[in-house]
Amino acid sequence: FHCSIPLQSGVALALPDAAARHVQVLRLQPGDALTLFDGQGGEYAATVTRMGRGDVQVQVGAHVAVEREAARAVHLVVGMPANERMDWLVEKATELGAASIQPVAAARSVLRLAGERADKRQARWQAVAVAACEQCGRNRVPVVHAPLSLADWLAALPAAPGDGLGARLLLSLRAGSRPLAQAAGAALAVHVLHGPEGGLTVQEEDAALARGFAPVSLGPRVLRAETASVAALACLAL
Ligand code: SAM
Repeated sequence: FHCSIPLQSGVALALPDAAARHVQVLRLQPGDALTLFDGQGGEYAATVTRMGRGDVQVQVGAHVAVEREAARAVHLVVGMPANERMDWLVEKATELGAASIQPVAAARSVLRLAGERADKRQARWQAVAVAACEQCGRNRVPVVHAPLSLADWLAALPAAPGDGLGARLLLSLRAGSRPLAQAAGAALAVHVLHGPEGGLTVQEEDAALARGFAPVSLGPRVLRAETASVAALACLAL
């Protein structure tokens, strides 16, 4: 269970609302064991000590020293697909080990978000990532950043790292794109950018290339945006 308050061995605490609701839905009882994680890599054994109405008390036990992150940090920069497809993308990307998810709006994006709607959607996607961590046992929750326009995101990107440990890959259908797995080489941190349903315009792809992205291919079929994210992670983040 994700616990958004600091965890420490030997401490008794009341679970925050979301975790308490979850424990109640599963009808855990005093004496039952559970695992708590703080979302930053901290994982602890715990025992339920009290089940009250809206109040679940636990005793935090031993720290579990376990690393569940992929060896390579894959940062997804996704042309947001509309509707529930983005929820699916966030869930699967979290299970597959994405280090972070940056939703971007491109010229052909169907989904356009601003202000309060953008904040609400970001919060929902972050909650989807937490739930996916609970399901798959991941103890570090990937950050789902606030949606930005692709142009703004590219403009804020620092100069490409020259140390050979970072790579910027643009999933592209243009001729001459190298196969993704080859292009990543031994890079330990990779940004993977892809377009939304309608793809990126030539100008958007060129702008990404000018910021150090290399065009890469996932094969000779046109994948849905969310499939492209999942396929890239399956290749890169093991
Ligand atoms: N008609 C659009 C086009 O021609 O760009 C299709 C866009 S596709 C549904 C969404 C995004 O997934 C693309 O912008 C691209 O980034 C990525 N993508 C899909 N299939 C791919 C493939 N086989 N290789 C590389 N990237 C792919």
